[in-house]
Amino acid sequence: MLKWLLLMALGWIVYRIVVPRSRDHGRQREGSIEMLKCAECGVLFPETDGIRGSEANFCCAGHRDTWLSNR
Ligand SMILES: [Zn+2]
Repeated sequence: MLKWLLLMALGWIVYRIVVPRSRDHGRQREGSIEMLKCAECGVLFPETDGIRGSEANFCCAGHRDTWLSNR
C-alpha cells in the first residue's frame, strides 16, 4: 500500500514538472495567439477567431446563441 502511495506521489511530481513546460512550448509555437475553448461544443479556436463573451467564449455566433438560450 505504501509503495502505491509513493508511486502516486512520484507521478504527481513528474506531472507538475512536465505539464507547465509543454504548455509554454505550445504558446511559443502559436506566437502570441491564445487558444480558447468554445463553451458550447468544446472546440479549440484562436482568440482572433470566434466570439469572446464576458462569461464564456464561442467558436461562432450560433453557438453563443445556443449557449445563452440553454441557460
Ligand atoms: Zn462551438
